[in-house]
Amino acid sequence: MAGLVLKNVAKLYPNGGVGVKDFSLEIQDGEFAVLVGPAGSGKSTLLRMIGGLEDISLGDVYIDGERVNDLEPRERNVAMIFRNYMLYPQMTVYENLAFGLKLTGCGKSEIHERVLETARLLEIEGLLELPSEQVTGIDRYKVVVGRALARRPRVLLMDDPMIRLDGQLRQEMREGLADLHHRLGVTVVYVTEDASEAMLIGTRLAVIRDGVLEQTGTPEEICRKPQNRFVAEYFSNPPMNVMTARVEEENGRAILWVDDRRGVFSPENSRRLLEGGYAGKEITIAIRPGDIHAEKEWAEKEADNCLQASADSYEEDESGAYMTFSIDGESVRARVPESAGIRPGDTVTLAVDSAKVYIFDKDTQKAI
Ligand code: ADP
Ligand code: MG
Repeated sequence: MAGLVLKNVAKLYPNGGVGVKDFSLEIQDGEFAVLVGPAGSGKSTLLRMIGGLEDISLGDVYIDGERVNDLEPRERNVAMIFRNYMLYPQMTVYENLAFGLKLTGCGKSEIHERVLETARLLEIEGLLELPSEQVTGIDRYKVVVGRALARRPRVLLMDDPMIRLDGQLRQEMREGLADLHHRLGVTVVYVTEDASEAMLIGTRLAVIRDGVLEQTGTPEEICRKPQNRFVAEYFSNPPMNVMTARVEEENGRAILWVDDRRGVFSPENSRRLLEGGYAGKEITIAIRPGDIHAEKEWAEKEADNCLQASADSYEEDESGAYMTFSIDGESVRARVPESAGIRPGDTVTLAVDSAKVYIFDKDTQKAI
């Protein structure tokens, strides 16, 4: 059963701004869905419309099959955790968990029962009597989640709750969250700007840009089959190598030219390009740094897709080390292991894994 359905939802702000455009998405009951996209893409607007904190300009929102457009926030049974979440500082953990239940008019014994049940679920029973300001790290986060869940919401909305954290704590929380969701079975929409975080925690992602749903799919589908250049680039770390290539037909096979360098498309890409009438036209190609190789085996395997490159420098980011190279003054990133022994200034042969080259229409930037 669909836990949450968004049907052609749009948000038009009174100042003429468009927060979300014609957005449709079905999230299954108990699913953990990740809504991912850059700042200003409409993620918070969408969550606020689901939660009832913002009017829905167009379209419908259904929770467990019930249209909720006209329900008050508290009638929707949706809990939200915001970016700048805080615990009530003057209260114990117990009182924090009980607070929302009191507002809904639960009786004392029912409140007690629910607080204990929630605490057991989150494994924070030992903290209940502590003042909330004494609770730190992952436990603090659990209390925040517990407070949202104590009312047994049908849907839990999380608006980039980890953006202020970094390093170890963030890592712990990601793992904790996945584990928790398995036990809770509540429908979750988790918002993040961070593509690698989305990949790590989501079983299904919805990618949003400029208020438009660009693609949904498992992390693997999004990564392997991006439907357009934006999605491809957003989910590549380090950034993809993007260039314009001219397509030509040669003995029934599509080949490419980037300036005066010739390459050969994979049989699959070749078929798509020729069937799509791209011979003689320019397209955009994109290659992940991890799909450009310096090993000799690759130069043999991809003899038609080799480039002479001059090594510039090692770079490092959270995803590991990679090298930048110059090819006729253009910069190319390749994830070459340090064990390859390449030093800045060396001239090397780089081979492109042609099966991993992404091809996009130059005008629409849609995948071909
Ligand atoms: P995100 O959460 O993905 O960063 P938002 O949902 O906050 O994006 O914003 C989406 C778009 O809607 C942005 O262009 C933003 O400027 C606009 N927007 C958000 N809130 C308002 C508002 N109250 N009035 C007018 N425009 C808004
Ligand atoms: Mg936001």
